Formats: sequence, C-alpha cells, structure tokens
Amino acid sequence: MILNTQVSSLGFVYKAKKKPLEKIGILTLKDLLYYAPVRYEQYPDPKPIKNTLPDEDAVVEGKVATIKNQYLRNRKSIQKAVIWDDSGELECVWFNQIYLVKVIKEGDILRAAGKIKYSGNKKSISVKDYEVIIPDKKPLHIAHMVPIYSETRGLSSKWIRNRIFERLNSEIEFDDLIPEEYLTKHNLSKLEDAMRTIHFPENLSSVEKARFRFSYEEILLKRLASLKIKEEWNKKLTAHKFEIEKHRKKIDKLIKSLPFELTNSQKTAIESIFKDFQKDKPMNRLLEGDVGSGKTIVAAISAYLAYLNGFQIAFMAPTGILAQQHYKTFEDLLSPLGIRIQQFTSQSKPAKNQEARIKKQGDKTHDSKFMIHNSSFDIAIGTHALIHKKVNFRNLGLVIIDEQQRFGVEQRAILRERGDAPHVLTMTATPIPRTILLTAYGDLDVSLLDEMPKGRKIIKTWLVPNEKRENGYKWIKEKIKKGDQVFIVCPFIEASETLTTIKAATEEFERLKKEIFKDFKLGLLHGKLKADEKNTVLSDFKNKKFDILVSTPVVEVGIDIPNATIMLIEASERFGLAQLHQMRGRVGRGEKESYCLLYSENLNPTTEKRLRSLEKIFSGPQLSEIDLQLRGPGNIYGTAQHGRVEFKFASIFDRSLINLVQKDAAELIKELDKHKLLRDEVESTIIQKVSPD
Ligand code: ADP
Ligand code: MG
Repeated sequence: MILNTQVSSLGFVYKAKKKPLEKIGILTLKDLLYYAPVRYEQYPDPKPIKNTLPDEDAVVEGKVATIKNQYLRNRKSIQKAVIWDDSGELECVWFNQIYLVKVIKEGDILRAAGKIKYSGNKKSISVKDYEVIIPDKKPLHIAHMVPIYSETRGLSSKWIRNRIFERLNSEIEFDDLIPEEYLTKHNLSKLEDAMRTIHFPENLSSVEKARFRFSYEEILLKRLASLKIKEEWNKKLTAHKFEIEKHRKKIDKLIKSLPFELTNSQKTAIESIFKDFQKDKPMNRLLEGDVGSGKTIVAAISAYLAYLNGFQIAFMAPTGILAQQHYKTFEDLLSPLGIRIQQFTSQSKPAKNQEARIKKQGDKTHDSKFMIHNSSFDIAIGTHALIHKKVNFRNLGLVIIDEQQRFGVEQRAILRERGDAPHVLTMTATPIPRTILLTAYGDLDVSLLDEMPKGRKIIKTWLVPNEKRENGYKWIKEKIKKGDQVFIVCPFIEASETLTTIKAATEEFERLKKEIFKDFKLGLLHGKLKADEKNTVLSDFKNKKFDILVSTPVVEVGIDIPNATIMLIEASERFGLAQLHQMRGRVGRGEKESYCLLYSENLNPTTEKRLRSLEKIFSGPQLSEIDLQLRGPGNIYGTAQHGRVEFKFASIFDRSLINLVQKDAAELIKELDKHKLLRDEVESTIIQKVSPD
C-alpha cells in the first residue's frame, strides 16, 4: 500500500470518524502515520496482586473470573471484573462503560493500570486503562512506552494508537522523500525506521533520533517550498520596471508635504522598495514594523510612484473597517494630487451609474456585478477579494497587502491567477523570528521598521489584579469625565470569533452598561456585525458618540482613533505578549498620554511575570521573544497562526539544524526534478498553502 492511500479506503473510517479525522488533518495513510505522539506513557511491568499496596498506582494482570454491570440510579453504572493471578485476586472497577462486558470475557487475560484500593481485605483497582492480552502478542496500551496522541472529540488516543499499530503491521511502501545520500551524510534514520520508532519506541533515546529525522524533513520541505516560490516568482520575467529619477521631484514634494519627517528606517525601506521596482523581477517584499511604526505612509509613497509610472495599485486590508481607514488616509494624501481612489468592500457593488456604464459598454466579462470599469480608478482599496478577480484591473502594477495573517500566501495566488506580475508589498506588525524567516519565508525580502516616529509616547501599562478591578473602573470614569475615550476588549475565548465569544462580549457589554458605567455611553463591536454596522459603530466612536467601545478581540488590527487613550484588556493572560502589544497600539495615536490596563482574574507567578514585561518593554519583537521562551515554540502566538509556520517536529530554536538544512536545500533545489518524490511533496505543500481556510 502506498502512503498516499486515502484513509477513507482503509476500512476503519466509518462515518462517525470521518469528520474528526479531517479536523486533525488526516486524509491519507501518510497523514495518519505522520500524526506523531505528543508524549509517551511509561508503565511498569505487572505486579503480583498480593504485592500491591493501598493507593499505589500499579499495573496488574490476571485471568478474568467474572465481569458484570451494576446499574445505579440516574442511568449511571459500575462495571466490575474479578481477576486473579498466582498470588491472589482483585476487583477491577470502571464507571459508566456498559459496553465493557462485551469486550472483556471470562477467561481473558486482562491487564489493568490504575489506583489500588483496599477495603477490609478486599482489593480493588480503579481502572485508568486496560488491555485484553492476546497470547503471543506484545501488549500495546499498557507497556513500557505507550504513545499518547493528541485527542479530539470522537478520536481517542487509544483509537488512534490501534489504527496506527494495525497499519504499521501491514504492507506499506515507505518511499523516502529524503534522497539516500542525504540520509547517509547526516546519519538520518530511514523513513520506515523513524516511523516505527516514533510511534512504538524501545526507549526515549531512540525517539530523539527519529524526531531529528522528521525535523530535518520538515524544515527541508519548508525551505524548499520557499525557494521554489522564489524561483517561480523570478520566472515571471515580465516585471514592470518603474522609472524613478524622472519622478523624483514629485515624490520628494509629497514627502515634504507630510506633517512629519520620515524616520530613517522608513527612508531605507522606501529606497529598498524603489530599487526592487527597477529590477527585472517583480518585487516580493515584506515590510515588518511594530504597531505605529508608520507602514502606511511607506505603502502610500510606493503607490504614488507606481501611479506616476502609469500603473494601477491594489491595496488589500484584512477587514472592511481597515480598508475604510486606509481609504481615508489615501484620499487625504493622494487625491489632491489627482489620483482616483476607489473603495471596494465585500458587499460593495459598483455604484448605479457605474453599473449602467458597464452594461452600456457591453462588458462581457463574467460576474459583471463586481466588475468595476477598469479605467475608472488608479488605486483600488478593499479586502482580499480584490485580487481574486472581483476587480478588473487595466494595468495592475503593485499589490499592497496589509496586516495579512497568512502572508506569503496571496503571492502564490497572484502567481497562479494572474498573467502579469505585479510587484507585491506585504506589511505586518507581527514580529517573525529570524529562523522562521529563513526557513518558511525565504522567498520574501524583508524591510524592518525598527524605529518609532519621533515624539511617540510610550503607552503606560499596568497589570491590574482582580482585587483592584473596581479602582481601575473608578480611574477610568475620571478620565472619561476629562474627555478621554476607552476601548474595552473582552476575553479571548476561542481561536476564531465564534458565537461563544460574541455572547461573552455582549454579556460583558450589558454588565458594564448596567452596573459599572451607568452614566456613560457604550458601544459594542464584534465580528458578526455587518460591514456597514461595524463602520457605523466605529465612526460613532470616532465622533465621540460613545465614551467606551466594548469589543471582541477583532479590534486588534490597525484602527486609528486618536482620542481613545485607554485600552482595557480582559483576561489578558489568554493572549500572547506580542498580541497584547499590538492591541495596546490601538491607543496612543494622538497627542494625549495613553494607558493600557491589563485585567486578569487568573494570575499565577508565571503569568504575572509574563504580563509584567508589558509594563517595562515596548518593543514588539522583544516581547515576542519573551513569549517564545516562556511558552515554547508550539505556542507562539501570532506566528503559529501563519499558514507556513506550523512546525510539528522541529524547534525554531534549533539553529544548527536550520543551518544544515539551508545548505542542503540550496543544493537540492537545483536538481529537484531528479528527486521526484521530494519535488511532488514540495509542490503539494505550496498548493496547500493557498487552499482556502
Ligand atoms: P502602522 O505601522 O501600525 O500601520 P501607521 O502607518 O498607521 O502605523 O502610522 C501610525 C501613525 O503614525 C499615523 O497617524 C501616521 O500618520 C503617523 N506617522 C507615520 N510616520 C510617521 C513619522 N515618521 N513621524 C511621525 N508620525 C508618523
Ligand atoms: Mg497599519
């Protein structure tokens, strides 16, 4: 059987298992086998029943004399089996598992792990795990090294273990995608060995070797994928070369007209972008800078140059609200220069007259509802729908992508979907560790805005323990009376904005309105509001129709409300530091002193220490390093969400491995066609990256 066999054809994927398997990403036999254990449970050998002690965690094994169900009230039940070995007998006890009488039969040899109890001279074990021992077969679930898998509803660790065990005992063609010579060179385990070891190791030290092989493979694939994207990107020979010197005067004039001086890192970033514009290859650059470091103006100046060269620009924001804000910024800055800016939102249809015009001109292109007359604007601003064919560009020269969570992904879509090759500038406030940049984002050039505009005040930050909650509210009321406005961010409950999160925000909103801030005006913002409702709430807040805006964590990204000076974050311990830092960046945008209050009802010394770093440190990258160290790479907030950086095996701290892979990848990319398996895998990881969420 080959590794790419669909699990659905393996016989065990009956209906109830299909969804849960998909949920954890298991579609093929390969996915199943690559589902590595999160840890191993180490059980001792069975102990003679006679020697077990009260309250001891023990493993026992004996022949089943009887097994029965005992029904209690409320549909509850107890299962009891008496087992005996040469030294004595003992009762095994389970709760609410009536099916056990079908699985365990009198006369079976039963192994059980759990806590021993004495009552009089009767011994029992409350069973945590059990296994019916099959003659001549090694035990699987209660043994020296038992793999424990991450569970999901409908898939227990035991079930997964059984399935993987069965598969590893069937005929599989373990085609290794790492070429032989590289295995030898680094003394890496072969795929089959590594696979058997990672699931059913003899001891912990053998696991290390297997893990190393998988880490190597994982980093190699990421690196090769990013090299491959770069290669394809560079093949787009039709780069639009922009004239610069001809337009220098106009650019300088725009820069001079700004109410501030550009920071040095803004100037450097602009120069790098301009250089890219002159190359044969389209630009693919990431602009990384802390919240408030001034990325938008860099984008605007780049857009201006593209415009001066006669090209159209697409500017994409992650949400409609942000698109709206950027639209205003661009309008203020660029429309006085005669540049036509058009805003598109997911709901937006072309204005009536435009639609009519399109009809009259007999535009036959598909989906004419969304088709905007392609010469009626110079800069299109909207959400990501922009690039996916909703807007018909006449001459697209530059794509700007703001605050993209899955950045690097759209580039691929542009490659696939568009014949031409616009330059691409991606902007993010999420600090990305260097090691990740090297492996997963090697195809992007990076500019860093590591300098804050002059005169920017730091946002005074305090961790507010629960007993000071009321004091905090009191202080806020005083501030509001002096004319300040406040953001209150509700707890982060689930990864995406589900109904639970919205309910929590709505309840908190009601509570604050009725109990705490009775005399003030409050607004509520959450992700399920329609785009125009969101806009209304935000513009009302901006126009001071409320004092307090209660919201779900959606306000995290880029909103600019200069008069809001206080950010209160509930359940702050649930967020990553870099994320909290991004949130507090929503305030401190105006002249006034700004504050961030971190509320937490759930402080322990570690979280306290972690959160207190926000009181002293005001640099996003530094905070994310601290997060990384305190939480471990598996949990890097912010970066873990990016499509490209889910490491299952590798550690992003492992610089020596990363260096090793860099070298090998540089060699392998040149002869990738010789290694068909590897090539196909690289291709498929690239394609996965662009598949919709
Ligand atoms: P971000 O990098 O978070 O997207 P913005 O581009 O929204 O930041 O900029 C934040 C604010 O800083 C804006 O109001 C912008 O006009 C202002 N700004 C940008 N560059 C400078 C600068 N060099 N000096 C002073 N203010 C600046
Ligand atoms: Mg921004």
